[in-house]
Amino acid sequence: MIESGLLLAGVEQAAQSGQTFEVLCPASEQPLATVARGDATDIDAAVAAARSGFEQWSALAPGEREAALLRAADIVECEGEQRYLDLLIDESGSTISKARFEISYTVDLLRTAAGEARRLYAETFPNDNPQRLSMVVREPLGVIAVISPYNAPLALLTKMAGFAVAAGNALVIKPSEETPLIAVAFGKLLVEAGVPAAAVNVITGLGADCGGPLVEHVDIDGIAMTGSTATGQQIGARGMQRMLPMQLELGGKSALLVLGDFEPGKAAAIAAQGLFNHAGQICMANSRVLVERSIYAEFCAELKKYCESMLIGDQRDPATAYGPLINRRSLEKAQAHQQEALAAGATLLTGGEVLAGLVYQPTVLLDTPRHCQAWCEETFAPIMNVVAVDDFEQAVTLANDSDYGLSAGVLTYNYQLGLKACRAIRAGSVHIGMHPFQSNALAPIGGYGMSGLGRSGGHFSTEEFTQLKWISFELGD
Ligand code: NAD
Repeated sequence: MIESGLLLAGVEQAAQSGQTFEVLCPASEQPLATVARGDATDIDAAVAAARSGFEQWSALAPGEREAALLRAADIVECEGEQRYLDLLIDESGSTISKARFEISYTVDLLRTAAGEARRLYAETFPNDNPQRLSMVVREPLGVIAVISPYNAPLALLTKMAGFAVAAGNALVIKPSEETPLIAVAFGKLLVEAGVPAAAVNVITGLGADCGGPLVEHVDIDGIAMTGSTATGQQIGARGMQRMLPMQLELGGKSALLVLGDFEPGKAAAIAAQGLFNHAGQICMANSRVLVERSIYAEFCAELKKYCESMLIGDQRDPATAYGPLINRRSLEKAQAHQQEALAAGATLLTGGEVLAGLVYQPTVLLDTPRHCQAWCEETFAPIMNVVAVDDFEQAVTLANDSDYGLSAGVLTYNYQLGLKACRAIRAGSVHIGMHPFQSNALAPIGGYGMSGLGRSGGHFSTEEFTQLKWISFELGD
């Protein structure tokens, strides 16, 4: 059994209360680790440390911040598999392929963030008075509260923390209680790479009694949170009490449109890859698939075949599509959504059963009524809803039939229609010829509607983690 402390000013230690909590391994549902259970007292200490860390870190030259992040990237590139592979598999239920992807994406994110450290551009602008000069400077916010989710615990933490640090900020990280170990390992990596220890704090603990005091703390200067919309709403309401800048990356209910000109077999494979990756626990997963009626029957037949041939469960086999759900609550939620949809008139194309433990079969529901939770709420499990549509217009209307707006995909070779869909769909990203689950360290990832506030990736991130100041000079007498 692993024992882990929290990271205060870069040093691993017990919570001040001495309390701990248990982390279970999703595959076995047995205890994996005992972890320090931080609370408001530890948060106070971490915010104070981060304040002094901010003074040190923000005073460094951009090139020095770039160098530290590049060192972190090099370490992950050389040693990421030894350091993080087992943790990602055992703590977050990743398959080996998903864990490898996450490690290489983390390298990419760290290098991209490093580059942004030198690119905190602002501008000068003309002044009608020729004796006056105006310029804008971009300054770091200060101490950032970073609250991370369990589903891609290394990459998504890097995506927030890496860019925040690149812009000169200090961190107090509150990771998911499901995946604290990987976050502590990430904190140690930043210190090893040269970020001042005081600027790196990882306070492990539970959402309400650790995350709550963090987002309410009077001495934080910004919030970056990735997680569910319900949690984002609570955090957002607290952040607004102090008018804090906030980047909130929240839930999704993404649509994949399959138009009649696309090959049904290829579309089925793309749809399956876009949903079943990591057992459907991906914010951009295409949990709603809208298929033009002309190819609907063939698409469904191909999808059933694809699902029933997928290798599921063994996380260390590179051919495995996905492993367990994160915990029993997630499994019960999936079952409840499925039962409600079936009772309301949906039919089961394939799946619907628990294979073993927390491993759920690839499941496809046909014609889920639009009032059902499986259609309108995030299930975050390997359950896909497939609906036939008469034409392009109906596909777009149904794609927009959601409070969320994170991402979408359109499968067609008719790029005119594809581009029309891009313009008509209310989502933060739309991909033609691809499923909605796409990543790129430079892209502005974020959502419309209930999928969040702000954008993350490349300079869009550093813009979120800095603020602008207008400075002007009187040059005359
Ligand atoms: P979650 O909302 O349950 O938890 C997210 C984090 O918030 C955790 O660290 C948790 O401890 C913390 N938290 C919970 N209650 C809190 C409170 N009252 N105050 C402060 N912090 C609190 O999310 P999760 O289950 O870990 O992750 C899955 C969710 O994340 C899904 O909804 C998914 O769509 C979303 N997600 C979004 C993106 C994106 O880029 N938009 C990416 C990945 C995941």
